[in-house]
Amino acid sequence: MSDVYAQPTTGVDATDMNALARYTTLRMGGRAGRIVPGNSAEEIVRAVREADIRDEPVLILAGGSNVVIGDAGFPGTVVLVRSRGLRVVAEDTDTVTVRVEAGEPWDELVATTVTNGWSGLECLSGVPGSTGATPIQNVGAYGQEVAETITGVEVYDRADGTVGRIDAADCGFAYRGSIFKYSDRWLVLSVDFRLARSPLSGPVRYAELARALGVDVGDRVPLADARATVLRLRAGKGMVLDVADPDTRSVGSFFTNPVLDRAAYELFRERAADLGEAPSWPCPGDMVKLSAAWLIDKAGFGKGHPGPGGVAISSKHTLALTNRSGRAGTADLAALARQIRDGVQTRFGVTLHPEPVLINCTI
Ligand SMILES: Cc1cc2nc3c(=O)[nH]c(=O)nc-3n(C[C@H](O)[C@H](O)[C@H](O)COP(=O)(O)OP(=O)(O)OC[C@H]3O[C@@H](n4cnc5c(N)ncnc54)[C@H](O)[C@@H]3O)c2cc1C
Repeated sequence: MSDVYAQPTTGVDATDMNALARYTTLRMGGRAGRIVPGNSAEEIVRAVREADIRDEPVLILAGGSNVVIGDAGFPGTVVLVRSRGLRVVAEDTDTVTVRVEAGEPWDELVATTVTNGWSGLECLSGVPGSTGATPIQNVGAYGQEVAETITGVEVYDRADGTVGRIDAADCGFAYRGSIFKYSDRWLVLSVDFRLARSPLSGPVRYAELARALGVDVGDRVPLADARATVLRLRAGKGMVLDVADPDTRSVGSFFTNPVLDRAAYELFRERAADLGEAPSWPCPGDMVKLSAAWLIDKAGFGKGHPGPGGVAISSKHTLALTNRSGRAGTADLAALARQIRDGVQTRFGVTLHPEPVLINCTI
């Protein structure tokens, strides 16, 4: 059976089945000690349990669209999350709750919900990767986040070897984060989403999306229109995987949008005064979110900016760092990321943090 998440093998030794570059959207990453596919929750748990008993390092890898793996690879067991399936576990006249296995491709799930008239995930159309990874960084786009619809997550807890459920309220969901993000304690086996039975999207919150749909912010639109428009906007930014488009050999946004306290924000404004008003959004606790893309661009790293060894900023989006040549190494990408982070720090005094999970590499 073909692997739904496998990447084209350009730049990879075609005979090397342990090359992790085969499994990452960046098409980067050295060799794994061992790769074990887990085609069901039971198989995934067994693989992790056995590696834990042998005291081997374990890496959980699903779609490989939010990881940067070093050129030295991963000297342990890599468990591929390939479990599939979706079932309705609760319903009433207004809502439906679906339980989705971790390995279910995210965009296929979104397409299914749109077709079924289940509202709540439509603006997350086109995000690559697996359903089980969405709680890890509270996947979000175009004004929606999975934290709004997840009711709970079934996990294997490596600390005590049990399978249990964590309610959404205990998942620590935050902007691109959760209790799962920098912890390897929990293995997500399935995710429950409560969705509204409605032919219409949730209120459109993102101004660019509202403009593209020809509606006002706060309006609702047919689910299929929301999905089609999000996919179109994303494709224009290289944010939908496309094997023919080198701008999509990325992890999406490489840096998160920095969130500053009021004092840091005022300092930033002074340093950026010559550039007019920088885009910013108020956040809870008197914090202010800035646009990482704007900072990078204004620090002198525009679209297409090249880095060493064949990496480059995407020609469509300043926030995506790409393996443009298809043959670049992780060290090249890390060098470009460092150059950008240091350039933004020098120009604006603001520190950018990487969004993907870095494995055996640093920037
Ligand atoms: C072109 C492009 C566009 C993107 N756009 C967006 C976007 O708009 N919004 C957004 O939020 N993200 C975006 N991303 C990032 C990425 O798609 C998401 O974070 C996605 O949820 C990652 O899923 P994955 O299956 O590929 O995870 P992987 O990359 O395989 O894993 C990511 C991390 O999660 C862990 N993990 C994965 N599955 C599990 C599991 N079942 N249990 C425990 N840990 C697990 C891994 O160990 C790793 O630490 C984009 C990426 C690309 C390439």
